[in-house]
Order: sequence, then C-alpha cells, then structure tokens
Amino acid sequence: MLSNLAARDVETLIHPYTNLATFRETGSLVLERGHGVWVYDSDGRPYLEGMAGLWCTALGYSNEELVEAAREQMSRLPFTHLFSGRSHDPAIELAETLKELMPVPTSKIFFTSSGSEANDTQVKLTWYLNNALGRPTKKKIICHRKGYHGVTVATASMTGLPANHADWDLPLPGFLHTGCPHHYRFGEAGETEGAFAARLADELDALIQREGPDTVAAFVAEPILGAGGAIVPPAGYYAGIQAVLERYDVRFIADEVICGFGRLGTWFGAEAMGMRPDSLTFAKALTSGYMPLGGISIDEPLYREMVSQSAKLGTFGHGTTYSGHPVACAVALKTIAIYRRDGIVEGVAAKAPHFQARLSALADHPIVGEARGVGLIGGIEIVACKRTKRQYDPKAGVAARCVAFAQAEGLIVRFLAGDRIAVCPPLVIAPAEIDTLFDRLGRALDRTR
Ligand code: PLP
Repeated sequence: MLSNLAARDVETLIHPYTNLATFRETGSLVLERGHGVWVYDSDGRPYLEGMAGLWCTALGYSNEELVEAAREQMSRLPFTHLFSGRSHDPAIELAETLKELMPVPTSKIFFTSSGSEANDTQVKLTWYLNNALGRPTKKKIICHRKGYHGVTVATASMTGLPANHADWDLPLPGFLHTGCPHHYRFGEAGETEGAFAARLADELDALIQREGPDTVAAFVAEPILGAGGAIVPPAGYYAGIQAVLERYDVRFIADEVICGFGRLGTWFGAEAMGMRPDSLTFAKALTSGYMPLGGISIDEPLYREMVSQSAKLGTFGHGTTYSGHPVACAVALKTIAIYRRDGIVEGVAAKAPHFQARLSALADHPIVGEARGVGLIGGIEIVACKRTKRQYDPKAGVAARCVAFAQAEGLIVRFLAGDRIAVCPPLVIAPAEIDTLFDRLGRALDRTR
C-alpha cells in the first residue's frame, strides 16, 4: 500500500532515472527532513543516507550555517545575473576562492547551475577554442564506456551508458567512447592491473589514430567513474592516458562532479588519481547539494582565445539565467569555508582506511565479486558465481532487490547498471555511523542471497 503522499506522487510526477513501467507498484520513498547523515520519511522513519543524496550532501543535512548563508543572501539580493557587465559579490568571492583551490593552472571560473550544463560548456568551449585556433576539424570528444557526464544532448552523448543512448538517437556523431578502466570486469585472464592500464592506453591511442588526430579535440574522464559503478581505475592508468593525449594535442578535462571537494580524501579527485587535466568540471559538493551550482575552470590559453573570438564576434554567446546564482554562490562560499575550518578533506583521509576496510570485507560475501573504492566512495558488484564472475540475469534485478532490503534495514544506497551498488555517504559521517552503514548493507546482502 502506498502512503497518501506516495500515491499522489505516482499520479503527478515523472521521475528521472526510474522504471516508469513498474513505478506504479513500487512508488517513491517520500523524504520529509534530515539531520546529520540521517533522513526521515513521511512516517518519521530514519534512514542512514549512504549516498549523500545523489553524491552531493557532503556536510549532511540541517547544516544551519548553510541555511543562514542562503537566508542572508536571499534577503539582501536574491537575484542578479552575470550577463553583459553585471556581477555580484558572492560570485566574485567564490571565483577567487575556487582559483586558489584548483589543482590546475586556472585563469577564470565559469559558473553553471548543474554538472550537465558545466560539461556541455566544456564541449562548446573546446569547439570554440579549436575554431579560434584555426583547426575547425578538431572537434571529436572521447569519453569512457560507463562514464557519466550528464543528460543534455551533448553530455548524454558523452555518457557511456546504454540507457542514455538507446532510443534517444544518441550519441551524436563526433562523440566516441573508449575502454572502461575496470580491471575486475574487463581485465583479461591473468592480466595484471598494470598490463590492463597499458592496454587501455594503447586502445585510446589506436582510436585517436583511426579517427585522425586532427579530428580529436578532447578526452573527458571522471577520476573515479561514479554512476557507471563507482569504478576505480588501476594505479598509473591516467599517466598512460595523459601521455597519449599529449602526443596528439588532445585537451584533457577531469569531470570532478562527484570526486571534487574532498570525496577521495584530496580536494579534487585529479590529485588522488594522478591526473593533470587542462580543466576541471565541478558541481554537487560545491554547495553540499544545498543549492544547484556547477562550473568549470578556464586555463589561460583558453581564456586568451575566448577573448580574441569575442572581439571578433562582438560577444561571448553563452550562459544561462541562473549560472552563478547569488544564493547558490553564497552557500558555496560558506560550504568551502566549513570544509577549510573543520578540516573536512583531511577528515575524509583519516576516516578512509576504516571505511575502505569495512567495504573490502564485503568481498568475502558469497554474492559479492568486487568491493572497492577510494576515500569515502566505493562500489560493490553482485555476482552469481565468484570464481567465473558470472552475473545474474539482469532481468532478475538482484542489486535492486539488495538496495530495497537495505532500505528496509534503514539504509539508503544506490543500485547501478551491471548489478553494482554504490556507497557514498556524507563526508561528515562518524566512524560509528560507518559501522552502522556496513552492518546494514551486510544484512541486506544476506537477505538477497
Ligand atoms: N558528471 C558526473 C561525474 C556526474 O556524476 C553527474 C551527475 O551525477 C553529472 C556530471 C551531471 O550532473 P547534473 O546531474 O548536476 O547535471
């Protein structure tokens, strides 16, 4: 029986990433409030939020300092924009702060409202740059199979997941995908992680050569692939990829929408995973999910070309009404101030060994093939046979069932395609709560067997 609110929900809303065919039976978990790492449904039942919402509520729920930052900005100046010579102090201060934090040389910051818009901007600016540089054929974008970069027409094309392409007439031409750096699933029998990483770098090299280096503009990658399965590339993987990109003068963009702002125990995932990108995309934990805000870093060479194109064309023709919304920027400033004051990133590094030990221990479970992560993020893969890594029939929905059992245990985790389950709690989770999370997940796995 669906609760009254859940019944009204079914009648009125279309939900993103939901099986609309079965939704009428399953309905929604309607959440009403949150505190710390806990959220409460409309019947007052508590759940440990093991996914930080959607990989974003880094500071947990009911953070009064963030609420106050939003309230203060709302009452002072709820809206102005950044178009045509208009600005506001929260955007200026936030851009200054982000320039200090960026792990790559950064000249300017461009704000958006979401991760999808930010990656879409990366694609457009890459094309704009290559037009400015007089290389109009150098436009193709390469991403990972199983990578996730958003849902706009361009970013769904970048995303490497079947649900984002089938029957959507995507990917658009010019968006290509290369091997997923998941050794457990795609490594060959007896292949070491190092040999696997080298093979994937060769695959990328061959793809660029086949397409023609003068047609390939950028490679966009997540430090850890989030929605594709919380997949950790092998050590040294990005060094090999970087060498290929440099060989063919291909721009390297790190999609830090999940890994940015501490998730891996470093400020940005690029630092933890040995990436030296030209630009970063960020969103989510920038405001701890309290307000929608994203953005990208712009390096000096790109900025120079943007200025010269703008001089030629008379305007820089890009931006949305809410990019750099003042309330979102004020909340982001406070979020970063709290990260710094409370040593949140260092706290993740300190808690990570405990979190990862509890995660790895799940690999002993009879239906878990792999359990792996970095910092406070991890993924597990459910298999029918541990020895052969054979998976259950996707129609059986085994991971989805496990996630439902977890919810019944009072834990929110997320199932992903390929019978994978992601764990990504708020960064402020306490060690005892980490134990609660994994105790409950273990019981859910037991019930799934
Ligand atoms: N990039 C990554 C790595 C993401 O995980 C996401 C969303 O989960 C996006 C981009 C898209 O961000 P948004 O949903 O804010 O558009």
